[in-house]
Amino acid sequence: MRLLIMGAPGAGKGTQATALAERYGVPAISTGDIFRHHIRNQTPLGIKVKALIDAGEYVPDDVTEEIVASRLAEDDCAGGFLLDGFPRTMHQVHFLDRYLADRGQSLDAVVSLHVEPDALVERLLTRAALEGRADDNADTIRRRMEVYAGQTAPLIFHYESKGLLVDVEGTGSVEDVRERMFDMVDAHVRER
Ligand code: ADP
Repeated sequence: MRLLIMGAPGAGKGTQATALAERYGVPAISTGDIFRHHIRNQTPLGIKVKALIDAGEYVPDDVTEEIVASRLAEDDCAGGFLLDGFPRTMHQVHFLDRYLADRGQSLDAVVSLHVEPDALVERLLTRAALEGRADDNADTIRRRMEVYAGQTAPLIFHYESKGLLVDVEGTGSVEDVRERMFDMVDAHVRER
């Protein structure tokens, strides 16, 4: 299974990604988590991307694509993977398409988690209080929403036109969304 999960900041991507990856027995790869790991450890990459991420901007495509390519080349991705937070730009979409095509591989499904904008901001501010992520403050949240709407939301149409999109309503409890998502992904994969 080769899967993607997309959603606006606060849509619950990370939580549901872990559940989905477990269900299908593939590694969940979160570019946001990889970057945060580098920032915590003050690696050269971490130092390079910290200011951008804290400001709610995207990391440049070439940097992000290199990270993803080297992660996908690891052994545990041979049988599949779930990418959480990649691709986020059209450039990254083309990069991934080419990466997979070169290996005779393709995607099985792209999950899009949809949550109303007002609910998103509320969730992010709650998370800010709980986890203390530097990019979960009101100004940065606003900027992340804008960047998402401008750069990432259009990707949904791309995957829809390829017949890969599984559009999941992300409102409700974590468990409700998870069950809804499992049912829809199972059905999508069965029908292919
Ligand atoms: P969220 O979706 O909740 O904002 P993520 O953990 O997915 O959080 O990402 C956090 C930040 O990491 C993003 O705002 C962005 O700065 C950076 N980032 C993650 N993935 C990518 C990507 N594919 N391309 C560019 N920047 C990325």
